[in-house]
Amino acid sequence: MNFTVKNTTLRVILDLIYPCYCWGCGKIGERFCFRCNKYNKALNPPFSRPLEPDFHKLFVCGLKEGMLTELISEYKFHSRRYFAPVLAGMIYESVKTLPPETLIVPLPTIRKHIRKRGFDHILEISLELSKNSGFKVAPLLSRARETIQVGQNGKIRRLQAREAFALDKKTFCNIFGENPSSRDLLSRPILIIDDVWTTGASMKSASFILRSAGLQNIYGVVIAKNNGYEFT
Ligand SMILES: [Zn+2]
Repeated sequence: MNFTVKNTTLRVILDLIYPCYCWGCGKIGERFCFRCNKYNKALNPPFSRPLEPDFHKLFVCGLKEGMLTELISEYKFHSRRYFAPVLAGMIYESVKTLPPETLIVPLPTIRKHIRKRGFDHILEISLELSKNSGFKVAPLLSRARETIQVGQNGKIRRLQAREAFALDKKTFCNIFGENPSSRDLLSRPILIIDDVWTTGASMKSASFILRSAGLQNIYGVVIAKNNGYEFT
């Protein structure tokens, strides 16, 4: 089959007829075929850069546009959970050079959103990434405040983000002990995951909490960045 799946109606029909087809081109058998993946990557290439003091390096799978945006939106807002391995695969391509002892820290999702969607979209991607990479998932952060960021301006989002997360002390102690002092232990690579970088306030806040707990080697990855290559 060789056609471009553009409209929603056609996708709904395909959903009914075929259990599995490519979101980009309609090819049967895969959710996002090798060719579409390659095409998306060529049009919207991944990039990374150091972003001290928050991130030793921040990995971005692409800009928030085109097929990448559609995939995230369908996954997150239309309960297409089967895109989790596709998105995790894109992240894996960006972060596969990190050492095997790296710990994946999912950015905690607002509980109301988990209930509404029926799944925790970041945790699901983190578990899939763990399968690909062998990196363990370590939920070192919890939600301290259940706020909604969508539609808020940058300043309000930054203020909310500062109070949004807290260290999950139980998980931290299980991994690093009560009073970790070993430099080796605390320099274990940490990879914080979120789906979209808008102002970066949530990711930076998460990094700050983990650095305050003594962790020294923090990386970040997001699937998409809102616009441009500049980071504020
Ligand atoms: Zn395809």
